[in-house]
Amino acid sequence: MDRVFSIAIDGPAGAGKSTMARRAAAELGFVYVDTGAIYRTVGYAALKRGILPEDTEKIDELLPQIRVKLAWKDGVQHMYLDGADVSKKIRLPEVSSMASKVSAIPSVRAFLLDTQRIAAKTNNVIMDGRDIGTVVLPDADVKIYLTASAEVRAKRRFLELQEQGRSDPYEEVLKDMIERDYRDMHRAVAPLKQADDAVLLDTSELSLDESIEAILRIIRERLAL
Ligand code: C5P
Repeated sequence: MDRVFSIAIDGPAGAGKSTMARRAAAELGFVYVDTGAIYRTVGYAALKRGILPEDTEKIDELLPQIRVKLAWKDGVQHMYLDGADVSKKIRLPEVSSMASKVSAIPSVRAFLLDTQRIAAKTNNVIMDGRDIGTVVLPDADVKIYLTASAEVRAKRRFLELQEQGRSDPYEEVLKDMIERDYRDMHRAVAPLKQADDAVLLDTSELSLDESIEAILRIIRERLAL
């Protein structure tokens, strides 16, 4: 089999990882793997059963009872929970918060590790998340740590929510983002941090097109494409 390439993009919430990873994947003909969606699916499963994220024993019990699957339809990743497509439901802000809480539980991370690695085994992938370059794909061919100031990220998320018809106040979006950053960066297992060999890209001052250009430049340089 031909060698496959993997590109890891990590960074805090709202840094634009998914938008840029999706665009770069389309440009390069790679498969885009959104690992946040996998954690969101477990968060959604817990939320649906009324399990509190602090109740790690109940979460441990939940894991063997659920089936989490990802599949691509027309190039778009869909998430399935026990056979049902939950791709839209997992985008609600309450699921974001739940996902960030359950993702700190070691059994949840262990439960989802293979699912992520298998996706990168047979495909050229661009995978985004928090620990892709550090834990999931430590041998990735290219690692990028994508970030922007909390205010810029919150503003982007605020506008995204407005486009979806929601009216969450900016202050709340910012507060939620800062809390999520703190949780993601300070958890004991696989905390969010820049891998030693990752390229740092701060998009606070860049437009979307400039950011995509910068990402593609880094990838092409490293892969000598
Ligand atoms: O990227 P997204 O915001 O969809 O991720 C939802 C949550 O899942 C994050 O706040 C983070 O806590 C968790 N996550 C993670 N590791 C990943 C991807 C996401 O812990 N690789």
